[in-house]
Amino acid sequence: MQAVIEAIIQETQAVRRFRLRPEKPLEHRPGQFCLLSLPESNVARPYSIATSPTEEQGFFELIIKRVEHGRLTPALFAKKEGDVVDVKGPFGTFYYRDGVYAPVVLIGGGSGIAPLRSILHYLLAKKVKVPIWLFFGNRTEQDIILHNEFSALSSEHENFSYIPVVDHPKDGSWQGYAGHVTESLVAERVVDLRAPHYYLCGPPGMVAQIICALEVHGVPHEHIRREQW
Ligand SMILES: Cc1cc2nc3c(=O)[nH]c(=O)nc-3n(C[C@H](O)[C@H](O)[C@H](O)COP(=O)(O)OP(=O)(O)OC[C@H]3O[C@@H](n4cnc5c(N)ncnc54)[C@H](O)[C@@H]3O)c2cc1C
Repeated sequence: MQAVIEAIIQETQAVRRFRLRPEKPLEHRPGQFCLLSLPESNVARPYSIATSPTEEQGFFELIIKRVEHGRLTPALFAKKEGDVVDVKGPFGTFYYRDGVYAPVVLIGGGSGIAPLRSILHYLLAKKVKVPIWLFFGNRTEQDIILHNEFSALSSEHENFSYIPVVDHPKDGSWQGYAGHVTESLVAERVVDLRAPHYYLCGPPGMVAQIICALEVHGVPHEHIRREQW
């Protein structure tokens, strides 16, 4: 179906947030993705839906990184507000299951934050009374998508902790963690690693490494969900 680009927000140098108004609601679960294509081409790509069903009023948002020489993203980034795209979906099994009252650990890298943002907003809006941690890895401070939003949410909700991590802090004022998100960093904040359910989304190498380490620490396989690109 068609969707109108209602707003385009530049989040970081390479990442934009696209607010789309589809002809009919997508009716997705928090964490699922849609397939997006442009009317002038037959290239379709999956994009995680970054908004939660609880905050959508006839629109949804995607958080998209421009890939140099990619077949879809440079053409999408040339679009203007008011232009039309095609969307299909929702798809995918990476979504939050209602009725599971375990603590939740969200681990994201770069644009992998998109489905995690949806899950986070869903949990907070539904007032699910479990501890929630978001570990968010990026190259530099300037690459952190929605840093102010996550910081504000962690001040407002005492059950939500936001832990941004950057590989290479560029200025001396960075007060967060430097390096990569690792299971030992997670263990510093989450006392019992086996208790939570985990949702990981980011580059395949990061996701595989952390899952492997969590399983070595006895986290049951069925308590870990992943999406990667
Ligand atoms: C479930 C899922 C959800 C996703 N959600 C998101 C999301 O929320 N946000 C997001 O930003 N991305 C997301 N992605 C990734 C997204 O689907 C695309 O893969 C990404 O946007 C790149 O698309 P593209 O067409 O611009 O690049 P592509 O054309 O697919 O190119 C990808 C890479 O291959 C290289 N390449 C292309 N053609 C050639 C060639 N002929 N020779 C050599 N190299 C080549 C390009 O230079 C580029 O580095 C998701 C992926 C999946 C699987």
